[in-house]
Amino acid sequence: MAALKDARRLVVKIGSALLVESAGGGLRHDWLESLAEDVAQLRARGTEVVLVSSGSIALGRGVLGLSGASLPLEQSQAAAAVGQIRLARAYEEVLAPHGLVAAQVLVTLEDSADRRRYLNSRATLGTLLALGVVPIVNENDTVATDEIRYGDNDRLAAQVAVTVGADQLVLLSDVDGFYTANPAVDASARRIDVIDAITPEIEAMAGDAGSGLSKGGMKTKLMAARTATAAGCALAITRGMRQNPLLALEKGAPATWFTPQTDPASARKRWIAAMKPRGEIRVDAGAAAALSRGKSLLPAGVAAVSGAFGRGDPVAISDAAGAKLGQGLSRYTAEEARAIAGRHSSDIEAALGYPGRAAIVHRDDMAL
Ligand code: GLU
Repeated sequence: MAALKDARRLVVKIGSALLVESAGGGLRHDWLESLAEDVAQLRARGTEVVLVSSGSIALGRGVLGLSGASLPLEQSQAAAAVGQIRLARAYEEVLAPHGLVAAQVLVTLEDSADRRRYLNSRATLGTLLALGVVPIVNENDTVATDEIRYGDNDRLAAQVAVTVGADQLVLLSDVDGFYTANPAVDASARRIDVIDAITPEIEAMAGDAGSGLSKGGMKTKLMAARTATAAGCALAITRGMRQNPLLALEKGAPATWFTPQTDPASARKRWIAAMKPRGEIRVDAGAAAALSRGKSLLPAGVAAVSGAFGRGDPVAISDAAGAKLGQGLSRYTAEEARAIAGRHSSDIEAALGYPGRAAIVHRDDMAL
């Protein structure tokens, strides 16, 4: 069973109901401060933390005095614009006393559907984490329309976990785990501690109910668990309402843990290997040897480039005789790759007329 103390890269999803008072729509400040304490502790021992936070719409509607069970799309987009700026400021203010810098990252569904944009958000989130920053992610509700939006942050959090290659995802929720039936209506319902596989039986147990503020019910949490575990990320559902919810989870608070089906690096390699290549890069013997030692493919080792591919597209990597070594995602277009083939990385800017990345195919984007 996964344990929070082992997390290297952790995504935490914070639901609206935890952040925003159900009456009045004000921010639950003390709670947020206690969450920041937990994050600071995790960061201090080397765990990288990404927060996926809901609450923009709930906060914004409080400010604007928009009531009603559900708002029309235009009003929720307007509420999100008002609420998001407060949400981001609130995180910044609670993290700063711990010496932590917050970053706001707003994404839409298209950012994960389009490979280039996906790779771009992955790179940016990776850079933020390497700089010690705590990214605060939410859906860009102000521009996302009904047809093309995540809609719920359980799903978004799972996608973020996949994007950053997280090994753990914690859904801080209004329930303390996954139950055999809806505990609100069925007294015989019991919580399951560990779920190793999401079977049809497990699926049948997930009802559809959510709380007043949050969008996701158990069904969406189960979908999130499927996405995360398939990508090698363990997922926990636990109650978030209490103070210091992450510390509580670590100390054994009730939760359900979903077991990952693989590890993030292997899942990513399988994903890359399964794509249809759009071109081929042939490498010289020195580069082939370097690749087998786990190095990135640099322009200097490229002997020939064929095909028409764009940035982020899959390419076959072959040795000088054309035998396939593996494949990877190119950081350059085919045209650019031809222009820099055989050149030293420090000559890239001179060859292209603009600066570029040192590797043509980065080791993280390669499956051999
Ligand atoms: N993105 C929405 C917000 O910040 C929340 C979606 C959800 O509750 O899952 O208000």
